[in-house]
Amino acid sequence: GELRELLLSKIADVPDYPKPGVMFKDITPLLADPAAFGALTDALAGLCEQHGADKVVGLEARGFILAAPVAVRAGLGFVPVRKAGKLPGTTLGQSYELEYGSAEIEMHADALSPGERVLVIDDVLATGGTADASLQLIRRAGAEVAGVAVLMELGFLAGRRRLEPGLKGAPLEAL
Ligand code: IMP
Repeated sequence: GELRELLLSKIADVPDYPKPGVMFKDITPLLADPAAFGALTDALAGLCEQHGADKVVGLEARGFILAAPVAVRAGLGFVPVRKAGKLPGTTLGQSYELEYGSAEIEMHADALSPGERVLVIDDVLATGGTADASLQLIRRAGAEVAGVAVLMELGFLAGRRRLEPGLKGAPLEAL
C-alpha cells in the first residue's frame, strides 16, 4: 500500500556494512523525514490499539527511536530492553545465539506488571534472535506478549520462523 511505498522510499541500502557481504538497511533517511517518521509512528500506535497493548518495549538501539514516540502517541509507558550491563537497577537477563557466538539482553525486573500486555517494537527483524529473547524476558516478568511490530522484516533470514514458537499465537507485524 501507500504507507509501505513511503517507508521503503526512505530506507537506504548500504552494501558491505558492517562487514563484507552484508546489505545494511539504513533507516536514518526515514527518521529525518517528518512525514515518513510520523506515518510510521501513527501506524505503530495503531497496532498498539489493535492488539490491546498496555506497554511498549523498544529494543536497543534503533527500536528505542521508533518505540518512544509510539508510546507517547498511544498513551502508554515505554520500557527499554538493553544490551547487557547498561541498566542501573535489578535486571532479568536473557542470552541468545548469534551466527557466531552469543549475545545477552536485559530488562529491569520491575519494568512490567503481571498480566500486562506488551508490544515489542524494533526497526529490523533479521534472524529473530533478539526479538525472541525479548519475548522470553517479557514472559519471565509475568507479562503477556501482545505482539511484535517491526518496520522491516528481512524475509530471507527466516526470523519469522525462529520467532514463531515464542510468539505463541501473538502477531508479528512487519510494516
Ligand atoms: P536479529 O536478532 O538477527 O533479528 O537482528 C535484529 C537486530 O539487529 C535488530 O535490533 C536490528 O536493529 C539489527 N539489524 C540487523 N540487520 C539490520 C539492518 O540491516 N539494518 C538495521 N538494523 C539491523
